[in-house]
Amino acid sequence: MTVDPIHWYQLPVEEVFEKLKADSNGLGSEEALRRLEQYGPNEIRAERPSIFRLFLRQFNNPLVYVLLMAATITGILTLRGEHMLVDTSVILAVVILNVILGFTQEGKTEKALEALRQMMASECMVLRDGEQKIIPTRDMVPGDVVLLNSGDRISADLRLFYARDVGVDESALTGESVPVEKNIHAIAKTNLSPGDQLCMAFSGTFLTRGSAKGVVVATGSNTEFGKIAGLMKSTRRSQTPLQNKIADFTKTLIVAILFLGALSLVLGYSVGYGFSYSFLAAIALIVAAMPEMLPMLVTSILALSASAMAKRNALIRSLPAAETLGSTTVICSDKTGTLTRNEMTVVKIYAGEEVYSVGGVGYEPSGEFCLRHQTISPLDHAVLSQTLRAGLLCNDAVIRSEEDKHEILGDPTEGALVVAASKAGITEKPPRIDEIPFSSDYMYMATLHPEESGNVIYLKGSPEAILPLCHSQLTENDLKPLIAEDIHARTDEMAAEGLRVIAMAFKSIPADQRYIGKQDLTELIFLGLQGMIDPPRKEAIEAVGRCKKAGIRTVMITGDHVKTAMAIAVQLGIVSSSRDTALTGQQLAAMTDDQLYEVVDEVSVYARVAPEHKLRIARQLQRRGQVVAMTGDGVNDAPALRAADIGIAMGITGTEVSKEAAAMILTDDNFASIVAAVEEGRHAWNNLEKAILYTLPTNGGQSLLIMAAILLSPFVSVFAAGLPLEPIQILWINLFDSVFLTMPLMLEPKEKGLLEVPPRSPGAKIANRLFFERVGLVSLIIATTGFWVYWNFGHIALSSGEGNLAQAQTAAFMSIVLVHLGYVLTARSIFNSAFTFSPFSNRWLLSGIGITVVTNLLIVYAPFMNSVFRTEPFPLAWWPYVIGAFFLGFFIPEIEKWFRRRAHPEKL
Ligand code: ADP
Ligand code: MG
Repeated sequence: MTVDPIHWYQLPVEEVFEKLKADSNGLGSEEALRRLEQYGPNEIRAERPSIFRLFLRQFNNPLVYVLLMAATITGILTLRGEHMLVDTSVILAVVILNVILGFTQEGKTEKALEALRQMMASECMVLRDGEQKIIPTRDMVPGDVVLLNSGDRISADLRLFYARDVGVDESALTGESVPVEKNIHAIAKTNLSPGDQLCMAFSGTFLTRGSAKGVVVATGSNTEFGKIAGLMKSTRRSQTPLQNKIADFTKTLIVAILFLGALSLVLGYSVGYGFSYSFLAAIALIVAAMPEMLPMLVTSILALSASAMAKRNALIRSLPAAETLGSTTVICSDKTGTLTRNEMTVVKIYAGEEVYSVGGVGYEPSGEFCLRHQTISPLDHAVLSQTLRAGLLCNDAVIRSEEDKHEILGDPTEGALVVAASKAGITEKPPRIDEIPFSSDYMYMATLHPEESGNVIYLKGSPEAILPLCHSQLTENDLKPLIAEDIHARTDEMAAEGLRVIAMAFKSIPADQRYIGKQDLTELIFLGLQGMIDPPRKEAIEAVGRCKKAGIRTVMITGDHVKTAMAIAVQLGIVSSSRDTALTGQQLAAMTDDQLYEVVDEVSVYARVAPEHKLRIARQLQRRGQVVAMTGDGVNDAPALRAADIGIAMGITGTEVSKEAAAMILTDDNFASIVAAVEEGRHAWNNLEKAILYTLPTNGGQSLLIMAAILLSPFVSVFAAGLPLEPIQILWINLFDSVFLTMPLMLEPKEKGLLEVPPRSPGAKIANRLFFERVGLVSLIIATTGFWVYWNFGHIALSSGEGNLAQAQTAAFMSIVLVHLGYVLTARSIFNSAFTFSPFSNRWLLSGIGITVVTNLLIVYAPFMNSVFRTEPFPLAWWPYVIGAFFLGFFIPEIEKWFRRRAHPEKL
């Protein structure tokens, strides 16, 4: 928080520190704590609607309008002497129940999503008590010194006081997508917009290259970003395509239903029902036909599935991804760390024209060096030790050893080089004067160190990147001219064994040259190659196999050597032999998009690719109609992640930039977790389909029944005497059906073989042929059952005086309840017979069925319920017929499924 607006960009660095009572060594932790209390946490609180507002919002729903209108009219009729108080109160009760249900369900969804957001909370590196510390960004306070590297998200407003080759993507703030170059110089101008304040870095933006240090000048809602966010107020949650479709569908439906309702009012009145009864009939029809739970169903299923995915290490950043995942047809994955374990160990070294093998396991710094099966002392071999030393110096990783445990801090590729050097006893590291950091774009890294003879540049990277920069090779005795083909052949040999090969080189420069740039990297001396194993993850091999069965192709996209990539791809089962086609970045660069389009469905390994190639691959796959999931971790991967249908970022090794661009984050960087998420996505879609197929016939059947009754009333006496179902009964059926049967159905466990069928096509509609056939069939069962029971027993009541119409209604009501109970048992699978899975595996459903049975028996037999629901116990002799409804509801869909399985055996 700043008292009056200080223009930090105008002040020299010293003055900034003075004003903030801080210095470049960072704050002490106690002072930081005090400031945190003073300024509050560094977060922009989205304005959350109050609980009361959330509650009120539930009323904003067409069904509720209709019901409230109905309640008002029945209320007025009651005041004018009609006996409709019960109807009014039941309608109101239904409204309130609906609202409470929607409210709690929304609360649950919101909680689940909030929990996901918590898991994705970002962190940053600051100096506290003079040491580097990683803290949650919400704990940042003014005066904190922040250390930034390429790919980091900037989480507070900073005045920079160190900037090396810094580019910042400020598009979130200014809309300008070209990275802005930053420096540390104060600007003596006034009224500069944030985009022009080049010595400042703003919250919500990203460091796309370079490294920087800055001091926090504003946090939370005092940041520039916070000021904008404050203006935006609450942002709307994005809707998934399916949610939009359902919203459109229900809108159309409501219009149609209201029309039908009006029609039935007119019709009922004209056949002589009396106004209030005709009115109730219209309400009955409207209530019967309205699938009020549908939108809520979709949202809660998606949220449920996002939570399920989180349990399996995939964090969903946007709900649409939870929906799309299930239809994924291609997964493009990085190799290193995602498909492989990223536990690198150097096993072979080529140096001084000799090939050495290296022993030892894990990161423990002990192991023997062998040359032609003879153990040797590595320090006696000058080029070997130089190669190892280059690997150690040109390196940012460190090994932390605690007793017997050794772990790598930093990039595992680099860690392996440190371990290899320490196996030879090389651990001494002279200071580093300057560096060119590693980037996937040019595939090398260089460092500058002082040595006795002057300064020395050490370079390491992919052989293809390093060799063109070298002109000679160091051998045991002298320098000899470099024959690049020989070294490439050596590289190929190692790569074909699946080794990841890193080349080392060096160059001496004058002691007074203290900076290096790419222009200095010429005429280097080649030292050697280090080949490391990086075994495939066991789970990944299995997951690739599962994908194959599930009709999902796995594509490996890696920066590594093509031979290494192929060897690993064979081990993983992505390709069947190392002679299969692979494309390299070089070949890709020479191809047009149309040429790539021709082959993109066949190629499963891309090697030595740069991040921009990923974007092209994703685009061409999509042009082929594929639904593409694409992983990435670097800054430059962001465009590909955005372009893919599902961008997937790495939770551990990924940059903040890539996470922000992704739709999903893997907390364990593991390929198998992608497949798990796809499985959950399919599960969610499956359950949603089940729930919809189950619940819509309730609406269809009852509205058919009421319409038939109204239409037949002039001709059939039982229908002239009353409706087969009272509106209250319809309301009740809809209610228990949603709460006790449909919602438990959404929690149905995974069916076997979820990953053994091809992906659903991206254009697949919920309302497909099966939908119309199944919903139509079950609607007919419900309608005819209710119709026959009411007609038959109503007829008996009217003609022989055995029983009365209320009893006939009650019997019709009960038979419809029982059709539901029968149907819900078989609706647990869309294709498979109910006899193929355990009847006890969904405990929610079992309890739901139990509650349904008990409450409905009470409605039939308890006198109090009788008066509310206008029911009356019917003669015992009717029960066999009523119970028959259960079997109709169960067996007719079972038989339909049997025919379907016979007609489409491929779907099994
Ligand atoms: P991948 O990790 O899929 O191999 P990268 O783009 O990370 O892809 O790396 C590309 C290539 O750059 C690697 O195959 C390796 O030869 C080289 N490389 C990787 N990491 C480093 C590093 N830290 N320093 C130097 N070279 C590296
Ligand atoms: Mg890498």
